[in-house]
Amino acid sequence: MNPVGGLGPREVARRFASRGGSFMVVVSLLTVDFGLNVGDLSDVEKLFKLTIESSRMVSEAGVKSVAVIGVHPAECNALLERGWGRNEVRDHMFKAIDLAARLIRQGEAVGIGEVGRPHWDVGTEVVDLCNDVILHAFEAARDLDAVVQLHLERRGAETVESIAELARRANIKSHKVILHHAAPDMVGPAASRGLTPSVPVGRKGEFEASVPLGPIFVVESDFADDVKRTGSVIPPWTMAKKLREYVSTGLIEEKFLDTICKENIERIYGLSLT
Ligand SMILES: [Zn+2]
Repeated sequence: MNPVGGLGPREVARRFASRGGSFMVVVSLLTVDFGLNVGDLSDVEKLFKLTIESSRMVSEAGVKSVAVIGVHPAECNALLERGWGRNEVRDHMFKAIDLAARLIRQGEAVGIGEVGRPHWDVGTEVVDLCNDVILHAFEAARDLDAVVQLHLERRGAETVESIAELARRANIKSHKVILHHAAPDMVGPAASRGLTPSVPVGRKGEFEASVPLGPIFVVESDFADDVKRTGSVIPPWTMAKKLREYVSTGLIEEKFLDTICKENIERIYGLSLT
């Protein structure tokens, strides 16, 4: 969420709590969302601090919250388009991850994200570079027992397998790897590899399509607190309302809701929500 140009953490938390929401992961937006400079490490630090501060404000408003900090793959791509060399971009992204790791070690955040690959078609060189970044994030998170939130293309089992392979190489606990914005055809393959799929409730029909696979995922709103960005994004309070409706209409049982919103979260993040 955006404390600079959006509703802000307090109001988002208030609305979320009024619909029964009780836990929220606050994930870094992009530097540009805050009018910061892509490629400037001190601005990356500002981005991380704003994310951490937002999460703290959500907690203070009565919704338990943790922060996940990272530099989005779109920024990786933007720097390349700006004429940065691949090594320069890699170096910048690695330093951003190292900075995130330092803040996690200090107890300010619990994970690295969003990192990953652009969701649109990019060349092999960009993919290879992004995979280096993912591997670096996995290794940092492994040493801290932190989570990694991945932004990825949506290519079903193929996407999942490439991530499973990187996770294996880094020797990170697979459930700590969260596949944000997972399409229904990624949910089963991800869970069978022990990875955590995160299903966007705002994308029409995708939650419904994931339900028959069992409560093997978590849910997300992908809310950016930006009035200009709509589409598949829904506010967290609407997500909370929808999930309740799914129980009352019988799509899911109370136990299913409890597993995806509480038990899975506790296991993945290593915290207690009671
Ligand atoms: Zn994303």
